[in-house]
Amino acid sequence: MTKALLSTAKMSMTPNYSPPDMVLDKGRGTRVWDTEGREYLDFAGGIGVLALGHGHPKVVDAIREQATLLQHVSNMFYHKKHIEMCAKLASLSFGQKVYFANSGTEAIEACIKLARWYFFSKGTPRTQLVSTINSFHGRTLGSLSLTGQPKLQEGFGPLLPNVTNVSYGDTDAMQQAVNKQTAAVVIECIQGNGGVLVAPPGYLAAVRDICTQAGTLLIFDEVQTGIGRTGKWFAHEHDEVLPDIMAVAKMLGGGLPLGAMITTDEFANVLEPGSHASTFGGNPVACAAGLATIEAIRQEELLSHATRMGEFFQKQLTELAREFPNRISEVRGRGLMIGLKLKEPAKPLCRECVKHGLLTTIAGSEVLRFLPPLNVSKQEIEETMNVLQTVFQ
Ligand SMILES: *Cc1c(COP(=O)(O)O)cnc(C)c1O
Repeated sequence: MTKALLSTAKMSMTPNYSPPDMVLDKGRGTRVWDTEGREYLDFAGGIGVLALGHGHPKVVDAIREQATLLQHVSNMFYHKKHIEMCAKLASLSFGQKVYFANSGTEAIEACIKLARWYFFSKGTPRTQLVSTINSFHGRTLGSLSLTGQPKLQEGFGPLLPNVTNVSYGDTDAMQQAVNKQTAAVVIECIQGNGGVLVAPPGYLAAVRDICTQAGTLLIFDEVQTGIGRTGKWFAHEHDEVLPDIMAVAKMLGGGLPLGAMITTDEFANVLEPGSHASTFGGNPVACAAGLATIEAIRQEELLSHATRMGEFFQKQLTELAREFPNRISEVRGRGLMIGLKLKEPAKPLCRECVKHGLLTTIAGSEVLRFLPPLNVSKQEIEETMNVLQTVFQ
């Protein structure tokens, strides 16, 4: 059966992905199984989407219940889970107002549009945007224009004009790039796809000051870091710096597609009916799954658990790095967003891990990235370390 599926995959799927030759079939918690019955530890989590692992009973119940009750109505009508999810995110964050999209890139598009619309509506249009080198903000053309990785942009131009990329962590470069024409600075609190680079201490605060001085809006891309990934609801809480607008997605929908733009009354209230919209945004089932996820994170005290497990994992990885100094250069990250910087390409190693029953992701060309669920156990981390030991040997 697996062989037939793989050959159908090769015939019928566009070739812009290159998954290993196996077909995943089911999952429970931090484990998944393929169609041959082989078991894997899932430290990829659907690229950091699964806050509670696979098939968490509270999430499954919420999805089942909502799917039975009301599946979709779009935004011409209010529905309960949409309202509750907006209120929940407002209560957890600096913001008061929430707009739902279906993905990270769409949440970023909404942020870009709000920033430009804000200045337009004030009668002082600004169109320039600043983002960072090696950033990742998504694949649709607006977000891709901000994404500071030429290899992802090549062949898709022309992109948005008036975008400047500056070096991540370089306050002077940011100061020089931002002026009274700059609508917004868009920045990740930890560069994820670019290699799991945590903002240097004081950097986000400096960027905040630069934006405030120029009247520029500060947009945090917390698509990957949000909803507890780093041990706080949002990664900017570590730095005690507040943005004007924030994009969240990945873990937001409890495994279903859901993205959000969160902002304050001041900025949100310039929007008018019709100024932006999404057919699927705020889908009742996705909102129900998201609400159940947030509730479980709270009930099961997973923010502190993620912090502890992240520290444990990083410590173990640091020991591994000491054992293989010719192959590993650094361990970095925060909470359960962790990167192992190698001195060699990460992709072959990632493939080797799959063969030994461990699913991970890569970030940039030389970083092996781990995004396990927030409820991962110490024992699962130890098992992962055993696989890594084997693979490095
Ligand atoms: C994944 C990611 C995105 C894009 O999200 P999609 O849901 O794939 O569109 C944007 N920004 C960051 C920081 C991400 O990690």
